[in-house]
Amino acid sequence: MKTIELSEQYLMKTYGRQPIAMSKGSRGVCIAEDGKTYIDFGSGIGTNSLGYCDADWADAVCAQVRAIQHTSNYYYTAVQSQLAQQLCTITGYSRVFFGNSGAEANECAIKLARKYSFDRYGQGRGTVITLKNGFHGRTMTTLAATGQDVFHNYFFPFPEGFVYAEANDLADLQAKLDDTVCAVMVEMIQGEGGVNVLDASYVQAVAQLCAEKDILLIADEVQTGVGRTGSFLASQQFGVTPDITTLAKGLGGGLPIGACLAGAKCAEVLGSGTHGSTFGGNPVVCAGAVAVLNRVTEPGFFESVQEKGEYIREVLESCPEVEEISGMGLMIGIRLKNMQAADVLAAAREAGLLVLTAKDKVRLLPPLTISKEELDAGLEILLQILNS
Ligand SMILES: *Cc1c(COP(=O)(O)O)cnc(C)c1O
Repeated sequence: MKTIELSEQYLMKTYGRQPIAMSKGSRGVCIAEDGKTYIDFGSGIGTNSLGYCDADWADAVCAQVRAIQHTSNYYYTAVQSQLAQQLCTITGYSRVFFGNSGAEANECAIKLARKYSFDRYGQGRGTVITLKNGFHGRTMTTLAATGQDVFHNYFFPFPEGFVYAEANDLADLQAKLDDTVCAVMVEMIQGEGGVNVLDASYVQAVAQLCAEKDILLIADEVQTGVGRTGSFLASQQFGVTPDITTLAKGLGGGLPIGACLAGAKCAEVLGSGTHGSTFGGNPVVCAGAVAVLNRVTEPGFFESVQEKGEYIREVLESCPEVEEISGMGLMIGIRLKNMQAADVLAAAREAGLLVLTAKDKVRLLPPLTISKEELDAGLEILLQILNS
């Protein structure tokens, strides 16, 4: 197939891709160039939150691209300001910075935390504690922030100032919270690390420790945010209000956006000239994000995400091959007894279902708008494979 051959010839071989050339899609189904259709339980790694080519989202994006596609941040646009207001109103945060990706949102959060500390305490308080097995991105600094040795190779030297604590081990974190620390950054559900849900009591204790020592708590909600777990932010279900929250994946409905949200305590830290992005907050991307926010805040939307998640769990729990199901809402990890996650992924693809893996688990991140019929069709394929 031409698309695949060209890609293999000209693109850097940084990805292990599935042998499918995607061409179009609608809601939870996508169609390949060869005409084969797939139920998609991966939604572009949780980015196509409204599924493929949602009509309202596509209309908003097309209208914006025909009105004004970009201005740079030397100027204001109505759609960027509207998105900022909506995000702050929904979440209770005071201000937002827009970048283009999850890694950029986290870069902003780290810069913000270090400057917050510098402004108050001067130099020497720049350490950020992150959790082992986390994932925060692929830039040099977010790789350094990622507490997994496999990401700390080849590219030396990495930026300094990151210390890794054992997840759900308060004593380990306490031991590492010395007077060089300015922030603790966590994913409340470690996505790439295997859909591991942190203990709420641990997260609350971390938040309290941080507050006592004027250390900023950063929630990396790049994967968990924007309704994925059945609430706008996962932190709402953990009963904490982090000083900073980062968003990306699901926010743009498939367009590249990252957002760093800052609470009242640190919202004024990044002033003129301290941070920036040429494309960040691009009007077309913001129009897509506004459409996503309008949809997910409709009455009953988060409940529907919870219900669909529970339905998937119920169906899968009856399967003997399933060892354990983790996650929240429509972010689901499946630990298998005997099968390999990669084999299940390949068999599902052959049978017309797209899934993801995370470490040794099968991972599901279906579009938040997936229909009951699409869910049932996908689950039937998955069960057939797991029962074979
Ligand atoms: C995907 C992800 C990132 C990185 O986002 P990019 O858009 O790929 O830069 C960071 N943190 C978490 C938790 C993620 O899941």
